[in-house]
Amino acid sequence: MKKVLISGYYGFGNTGDEAILSAMITSLRSEIPNVDITVSSFHPHETEAGYGVKAIPRSIKDIRRTLRKSDLFISGGGGLLQDVTSGRSLAYYCLLLILARVERVPVMIYGQGIGPIKRFFSKFLVKLAISGCNVIAVRDEGSKRVLEKIGVRREIVVTADPALLLKPVRVSRLAGVKRPAIGFALRAWPGIDFTRIAKAADEVADRFDASVVLIPFHGSRDRSVAEQVAGRMVRKALVIDDVELPSETLGVIGELDALVGMRLHSTIFAAVQGVPFVPVAYDPKVEEFASSVGALQPIACKDITSDTLIPRIEKLLGLNGGFAYSVEGLRMRARHNAVLAKHLLKERRILGIRFDALEMDEAAAIIEGYIAEKKPHLVVTLNAEMMVTAGNDEGFRSVLKKADLLVPDSIGIVWAGRLRARVPGIDMVDELAKRAALRGHRVFMIGAKQDVVEEAAAELQRRYPGLKIVGARCGYFSKREEKQVVDEIRQASPDILFVGLGMGKQEKWIAKHLYYLNVPVCLGVGGSFDVIAGKVKQAPVWIRQAGLEWLYRLLQQPTRLKRMLALPKFVFMVIRERRLY
Ligand code: UDP
Repeated sequence: MKKVLISGYYGFGNTGDEAILSAMITSLRSEIPNVDITVSSFHPHETEAGYGVKAIPRSIKDIRRTLRKSDLFISGGGGLLQDVTSGRSLAYYCLLLILARVERVPVMIYGQGIGPIKRFFSKFLVKLAISGCNVIAVRDEGSKRVLEKIGVRREIVVTADPALLLKPVRVSRLAGVKRPAIGFALRAWPGIDFTRIAKAADEVADRFDASVVLIPFHGSRDRSVAEQVAGRMVRKALVIDDVELPSETLGVIGELDALVGMRLHSTIFAAVQGVPFVPVAYDPKVEEFASSVGALQPIACKDITSDTLIPRIEKLLGLNGGFAYSVEGLRMRARHNAVLAKHLLKERRILGIRFDALEMDEAAAIIEGYIAEKKPHLVVTLNAEMMVTAGNDEGFRSVLKKADLLVPDSIGIVWAGRLRARVPGIDMVDELAKRAALRGHRVFMIGAKQDVVEEAAAELQRRYPGLKIVGARCGYFSKREEKQVVDEIRQASPDILFVGLGMGKQEKWIAKHLYYLNVPVCLGVGGSFDVIAGKVKQAPVWIRQAGLEWLYRLLQQPTRLKRMLALPKFVFMVIRERRLY
């Protein structure tokens, strides 16, 4: 059972952060069966009761003790690393990241919002803490830009806010109120004037003969804002003040006809529920989210007046429920957070090389995430011979270190990593071809002789009708032809590129052209095309299950003897490593 410790701004009654926590727990549980989750919280008992997890206090001492027993440390959202609301809390969250690193626990930044970071010392601290994390996933492009600007040179994945996946609870809090019901989710902020907002809310209510509903998102702080606005209004407004779970607030937002949303998560909830909203931009994160779902241009908080609100609300209500925000793509990206966490939990290390102890379905799911990301990735099917080669060839070693995904192809890796199953390259080609045919992904194949690769392509299309193969090209070409070959692949713009040039050569070739090729998934497949085309016979299942495929291949191709000596050498190296550590 894998133990995960999550830290964030939890147990303070902030609906946005609680929504993130709740959705994060659900996603992690569905992605990682039997995961054991502990959350550091300001009110551990409430967190335990609310989400059915273990919870500990936020003290460094408690967190350190739990870290020592954890397999993964997750720094969850919302916006922990910003120094606008408090510089002390930024230092606290950075310290936790550094502490996890000291305790040698893998660390993931889980769909967080980053910034604004104004002070020099905060920038220094965030750079130091973030650069040591194993996976950095942020919720928007703006957060990525902040990290790049302060000098973080690590790979930063843009996912989406985990709260986009929260499921609403059915509520009927607004059952008796006059329609349309217009919600306001406000917070205290410099430039905000309660009297002006109360006047605007009254005028909006008069104009549309609407009821006004004030929805606090942060316990007593927002409640006091809501009460002050309601107290200054001439009309009677409804303050929603006794909601416990974020999913209930999501339900309440779903009952509205329109929302004026200042709190980021009020706008996320509205978008998820398809409720039209006017975003109020007090922080760049609100603008960023509004533009990502195609919402109205946000207004500044000093501009909350009837003059700005009435035309916007008129427009939104006029659309008569025909309002649709583009949240599906964002929700897919939000799901990727948990996939990344699972990937990180599966990392192993042998002879200084990191690889991924995944089974076929898990690896294929990650690869499909790469296709959705649309950025180039190198996937390696790792075997013992590669490990031995990496020991003598620094160039090859650095290619393996740069690979995005390394799956255990051979029985040697399975033995060394104490794993249950292999992910053989040839089976991976088959599985990815199957999925590509289902999802309409484009495949390019390069390697082996022209007739062999063409026959392999035809065979895959026979197995998976509808499979789009946008190129099948021979793997024997000169240095001078290389540019033309690479251009040919780039122009065909496949989603998946299978490269069968033989172990080592193919990985180096992919690494050299990865960014120019710009193919989301590039996978080295060795001699798979020869087998698929029927030129080389694959070992019978019972031989493969007995882990003796290497012997079968040796008997078929005795010239491989020299290459196969790598296996005993690898076994020797692994045993020596185990003795040392
Ligand atoms: N190959 C190629 N171009 C080259 C060298 C090799 O296309 O310049 C092909 C070769 O035809 C064969 C594959 O690469 O299809 C290598 O097969 P092998 O079984 O040796 O690969 P392994 O799976 O052991 O890496």
